[in-house]
Amino acid sequence: MPGRCQTERNQLQGEVMLPLKEKDKIIIKKMLAAGCCARCVLRFCCISVPAVYRQRRQDTLQQLRAFVEADDDDASRESAAPEENDDSGEPAEKRAKVEVAEEASVCVLCLGVLQHLSDLPQAVKIADAVTKENYEVDSLVLSISLPAQLCVREHTCWLHMKEQVRAKCGLLGKDDVVQVKEAFKWIMQDLLGKELGGVAVVTKSGLEVSVGFTHPETDADCHFLATSCPDCFKATKNKQSVFTRMAVVKALEKITDAKFLKSTPWPPSRASSSCTPQDVQCAHVAVFVAGRYNKFCRSLPQTPWLIDGERRMESSVEELIAAPVLAAFRADGFNFSSSGREDVDVRTLGNGKRRGGCVACTTFDPSLDPLAGRPFAVEMLNPRRNRLSPDHMKKVQQTINESSDKIRVRDLQMVSRDAMSRMKEGEEEKTKSYRALVWTLKSIQPDDITFMDHVQDLAVDQKTPLRVLHRRTLAVRRRVIHSMSAVFLDSHHFHLRLKTQAGTYIKEFVHGDFGRTKPNLCQLLHTDTDILELDVESVDVDWPPFLPD
Ligand code: ZN
Repeated sequence: MPGRCQTERNQLQGEVMLPLKEKDKIIIKKMLAAGCCARCVLRFCCISVPAVYRQRRQDTLQQLRAFVEADDDDASRESAAPEENDDSGEPAEKRAKVEVAEEASVCVLCLGVLQHLSDLPQAVKIADAVTKENYEVDSLVLSISLPAQLCVREHTCWLHMKEQVRAKCGLLGKDDVVQVKEAFKWIMQDLLGKELGGVAVVTKSGLEVSVGFTHPETDADCHFLATSCPDCFKATKNKQSVFTRMAVVKALEKITDAKFLKSTPWPPSRASSSCTPQDVQCAHVAVFVAGRYNKFCRSLPQTPWLIDGERRMESSVEELIAAPVLAAFRADGFNFSSSGREDVDVRTLGNGKRRGGCVACTTFDPSLDPLAGRPFAVEMLNPRRNRLSPDHMKKVQQTINESSDKIRVRDLQMVSRDAMSRMKEGEEEKTKSYRALVWTLKSIQPDDITFMDHVQDLAVDQKTPLRVLHRRTLAVRRRVIHSMSAVFLDSHHFHLRLKTQAGTYIKEFVHGDFGRTKPNLCQLLHTDTDILELDVESVDVDWPPFLPD
């Protein structure tokens, strides 16, 4: 295009104008001579315009060369008008300098990351890895991990360029230099978003796609730091190398410039190959599903019951609940938690008091009592789907309820991680209601029933029960029995209703646990007593919110 200045030519070719300043000339010259790529040069010229990094590397390189060579022309030719400075009018020797087809080797700074590791084939590779996982998302975060030695090379370059700029009375702050990570994301986010059919690559999203690079050839670059800053490199059990990025960054902050420059060459050594990309990792933050469950069976543990790796019971509350939820969210795994837990032989019911019914009669309907059942939450790990419509959630609840008559779930809903803590907070202060079937050695007198009906806020000291001693530390815990009431069944049996502080061991309160619980029902009734059946009637945690059918 004869007769046009460089700027016009750029615009006509669809190139992006490089916002270069006079002080950048020295940086461009020195860095290109040292074997840095065009995009690394842009970074050190502190250009934070994403579009500039997205244009073809060859075009950028050509523009950079043209920018510095125009300067050389000015110096050599007194009357070098821009109009004359076109391709056809230049001597052959000069033209050869400007016509740069391709960067010849691996960049000594980014070790290829901003060259052929941030182009379309790389974006396709990342997109394929994400597509394979089949996430139902509309956004993702791209994160990148670079070999630690890149920090050392970056620091070397910054110290040298800072000196060059200072000689020209300018400043080059380390924070003003655009990071490799940043430039990589700018280039890749557009390419990746397009490959994924419009998924937004943003800075905050539940889905994180991680791309890692290693470069074994130059691993030794940072080893000298261990001698100058041994404190920063302490061996830890689960790390492969002490030269983590964090440790290297810390050491670079401590080491003096003079000491650092003595140990690092300028320009940095050339590498024969680019970084090696690692497998793309995708992870979605957990989502939480909560509800309340009833358990109608005396042979169902809450969690899988394994002894020496062997399963003792066919199923468990958590498995019955989690399996359909896991399938709906297509998660990798789950964590189940609940407001307290019941023993395998204890049922968790509700007293259905809103309708005045009782467990034994047909009017019992746990869904009518907002406190019936036990609150629980399931944390879904790496879910491929991050939300369900209320209708879909109802179907999942139905699936759970139809899968077994041993449990029943209600109020199934998505909750936030924060909301989940409501289930656990102040758990000790919560009250729970129980109904126990009690046997007595001595025949029961009307006075005994009256006595029990009048018990209020009875403090009980419980030494860790023998049956849980293998998993809980030995201690004496004080719990309060807020109230009791008894219903006579026959001369040796009665139903005992208790309202207690959460965490009270009911079985031990009834049989005494060889005197480890004091006082206990044997002492209070002056006879041997034992517990035959136990049901949890309500868990006084007003969470998760009640959902009308
Ligand atoms: Zn580079």
